[in-house]
Amino acid sequence: MTAYVELHCHSNFSLLDGASHPEDLVARAAELGLPALALTDHDAVYGAVRFIRAAREHNIQPVLGAELTFCADDRPENIFHLTLLVETQAGWHNLCYLISRGRANAPKGSAVLPFSELVGCTEGLIALSGCRRGEPAAALLRGESQRSVLSIARRYLRLFGRNRFLVELQRHHLPGDELLIPRLAALASYLKLDCVVTNNVHYALPDGHRLQDMLVCIRHGVTLDDATSMRRLNSEYYLKSAAEMAVLFPDHPTALENTLTIADRCRFELRYGLQDLPPFATPHGMSSSAYLHRLCHEGVALRYGPEPPAEVFEQLTHELAVIERAGLANYFLIVWDIVRFARQQGIPCQGRGSAAGSLVVYLLFISPIDPLAHDLVFERFLSDERRAVPDIDIDFDAGRREEVIQYIYERYGEAHTAMACTFVTFQRRSAVRDVGKALGLSPEVIESAAERGAASGTEDTADTAARALLDELAEQLHDFPRHLGIHSGGMIVTGAPLMGRVPTEPATMADRVVVQWDKDALEEIGLVKIDVLGLRMLSAVGDAAALVAGSLGRPVDLDALPFTDPAVYEMIASADTVGVFQVESRAQAQMLPRMRPANFNDIVVAISLIRPGPIQGNMVHPFLRRRLGAEPVAYAHPLLEPALRDTLGVILFQEQVLQVARDLAGFSAGQGELLRRALGAKRATEAIERFRASFIDGAAGQGVPRETAERVFEQLLTFGGYSFARSHAAAFAVLVYRSAWLKRYHPAEFFSALLNNQPMGFWNPAVLVNEARRLGMAVFPADVHLSTAECRPENGGIRLGLGYVKGLGDDLIRRILDERAMASFASLDDFCRRTRLGRRLVERLILAGAMDGWSVPRRELLWELGMLHYREDGLDLAWEREVMELPPLSAAEAMLAEQSVMGLSPGDHVMSFYRSQLRERGFLGSRELAACVTGLQVRVAGLLVVHQSPPTAKGFHFLTLEDEDGMINVIVRPKVYERFRSVIRGQSLLVVVGVTQREGSASNLLADCVLGTL
Ligand SMILES: [Zn+2]
Ligand SMILES: [Zn+2]
Repeated sequence: MTAYVELHCHSNFSLLDGASHPEDLVARAAELGLPALALTDHDAVYGAVRFIRAAREHNIQPVLGAELTFCADDRPENIFHLTLLVETQAGWHNLCYLISRGRANAPKGSAVLPFSELVGCTEGLIALSGCRRGEPAAALLRGESQRSVLSIARRYLRLFGRNRFLVELQRHHLPGDELLIPRLAALASYLKLDCVVTNNVHYALPDGHRLQDMLVCIRHGVTLDDATSMRRLNSEYYLKSAAEMAVLFPDHPTALENTLTIADRCRFELRYGLQDLPPFATPHGMSSSAYLHRLCHEGVALRYGPEPPAEVFEQLTHELAVIERAGLANYFLIVWDIVRFARQQGIPCQGRGSAAGSLVVYLLFISPIDPLAHDLVFERFLSDERRAVPDIDIDFDAGRREEVIQYIYERYGEAHTAMACTFVTFQRRSAVRDVGKALGLSPEVIESAAERGAASGTEDTADTAARALLDELAEQLHDFPRHLGIHSGGMIVTGAPLMGRVPTEPATMADRVVVQWDKDALEEIGLVKIDVLGLRMLSAVGDAAALVAGSLGRPVDLDALPFTDPAVYEMIASADTVGVFQVESRAQAQMLPRMRPANFNDIVVAISLIRPGPIQGNMVHPFLRRRLGAEPVAYAHPLLEPALRDTLGVILFQEQVLQVARDLAGFSAGQGELLRRALGAKRATEAIERFRASFIDGAAGQGVPRETAERVFEQLLTFGGYSFARSHAAAFAVLVYRSAWLKRYHPAEFFSALLNNQPMGFWNPAVLVNEARRLGMAVFPADVHLSTAECRPENGGIRLGLGYVKGLGDDLIRRILDERAMASFASLDDFCRRTRLGRRLVERLILAGAMDGWSVPRRELLWELGMLHYREDGLDLAWEREVMELPPLSAAEAMLAEQSVMGLSPGDHVMSFYRSQLRERGFLGSRELAACVTGLQVRVAGLLVVHQSPPTAKGFHFLTLEDEDGMINVIVRPKVYERFRSVIRGQSLLVVVGVTQREGSASNLLADCVLGTL
């Protein structure tokens, strides 16, 4: 019986040259009975980790490799391919190195390596001579002399040795194949080299060639009709069976057998782990464990004072022992060092994720939350059972995160430091647009297809066949990697230089490199990653604390705030939360008045409840009803009570998945964790089905009825990967409390800081300014005499910063402030003469109200500006003074002008100009609406500030209208939305006629009709 292994295979990680996911190729290989499969993407191992996982699941041996792009040393335009397979660890090292060098040598997204760079870097690699673009084949196709082809082949022979260089034979029924193949075979025989057959696979099934053609078009930005010369001529590049390959090469049985021999030699397996981290330099050569121990004990005194409770030491001893057994002390020291640096520099930071369950992490000041006081479980983070390197994700002040990254680069060196990559994938819209262009469809057809879902294209009579093809191909393209991005914060730090551990390549940002794996791949393969994330709320809270310190004249220690202030909880419970971290959204504002959080733990629950998992699992309302006592707490099975008692029978936290799996189905903690990961992973359907079976079996073993077990498993499934770890929610809750505390007691400082850290949060700056005014704060305009670049508190109100005037960058603001420091501006003429700001900018400053200080009406200032003969960089200002009496801008005109130059207005809310008129016509304001009972038909009007249609809402749209007193929540049913779509999408001031709905103290308006004119 013939057997075969494909040794030259591209997945869609050859980026726009390969039309199947690695998983699909592996699954097809399994169907065909191939014992092994190689993955040889172009200059990359992007897909290697997913490929290895899939191969293991299908019991297929994965062979790692890549197809590299070289150029002749003396002629860089002479480009050729070489197929490389990894035989040993040294081979992996060399492959990573060569890919990295090739990538570093070419513009982002491509790679090319001068051939001489191969010298000395071939150990452990097996080379196949390549496709038609391989050097020997290309030379033969060009009709070069025998001598020249022989000398090419001899170069490879010298580099790799007879044993590790094979001549690659491919037959795709292309013109010239029948000459090329015998000549390559003759070359091999003359040099006593072995041959090997491959199929240069680009898709799993023959049909894949259509998508492959599409990708080629997208890559070259051409249409299918124009791409004839670039497309492959036929559909032969699919994964073939041993029998099919045997038919293709009847004269080369050995070359077929050689595929198995080669695969058998390439049994290298990837392994990483802690040995890859650089050793942390401890003082006096202490062991890392001893040093960690000492740091923790210092932390005990700092966190708990002179009389720490005994349980602190118990827990500390336990955790240190687990850390010691897992060999993680060095890792903790490295993370501690990063946080220490940030704290020394005054960069706000705090850990998130499961790390917050660890006392050690708290004592090292990595996490803000005491796990003992909040019942957080260390084992979710690290346990003897699960020896994987735990994640420590740290949020830093977003504005200063770069300093932390620089520190890590300097501390460990460029060669040892890189960021994780991300794969930017095709989404439905981008897929439709790109495929549509490649099909040569008109822009209108493409846009209408992109706008509507794939399913709703039936009424389209024009070119239905093309539309069907478009939909089909776009659907197949969905989730394909398109190009590389940089992960927002995942850093890899290695002891040995990175280039030999994993390939790197340049990122868009200068001097940054990324590794060729994203965070999921890194985690799966065990390459330690440290997440240095930027969180704007940390910046805002840090800035606000600094402003408060400035106002009070003494430092404010937010770390020392107890989480106990009833006034803070009262504010949160009344949904007075605009600006507050995590609980400010429309959905939170609807839920909070019903839930009425009253302590820290309630906040932890509140931010975990409004998440896709609980919402999709329909758990929010049962939870609230149970909390209010309107419905008894019920469990799907009594065995679930211990795990779910805390959350009234509802699954909210990741930890509960593990507990439920243990209590109901007898899963070990390790199995439970694997289940939890599968629930959160993409493409894990098969794994989940296996878990479902063992879950139901396990439950049956404990006497749980099958349907109960099924139902609980379904709940776990909808709960999915969206949930928070309790420890993560607790770390976030700290920031919720602190931001709420700042809003409650220091609103001017807090709102100033929020405005200075935009964009962030749920609401735009204009809403924040209106909210500040609703809270009774005066909002003063940006002012060339008084403002700095940033917003800041002033007399209990907020003075807007000059930075809000559009187009006024840091440099120009600096120029204004420097001039002002020398002497105040006496007049418009004086201002222009001294700052030489562009006329447009001065105009904007006038319209923003920033020049009201001379008590000259804005319209007169504009007139004056028009009379000024001045050039920005000119010499003199000629000034024809002519006084002109002009009517001042009306309040509404002034407001609209402010909006246009700043995106917000310090003056009255736009709705207040219409109020008396609206009242006469019987419209309700937000405050009156809030007092309405259910079922009233009313009319309201407001400024549209938020429009949401979450995928969980099944076509419902949620609008938030704002008026001078607050917000109006409008629910628009799918049918109503269809009817008024253009109004809703096109207008900013809306009139809504609808019926009131009350839930607790929250009120909504169910829209019947939406109009765009007042
Ligand atoms: Zn090639
Ligand atoms: Zn290829």
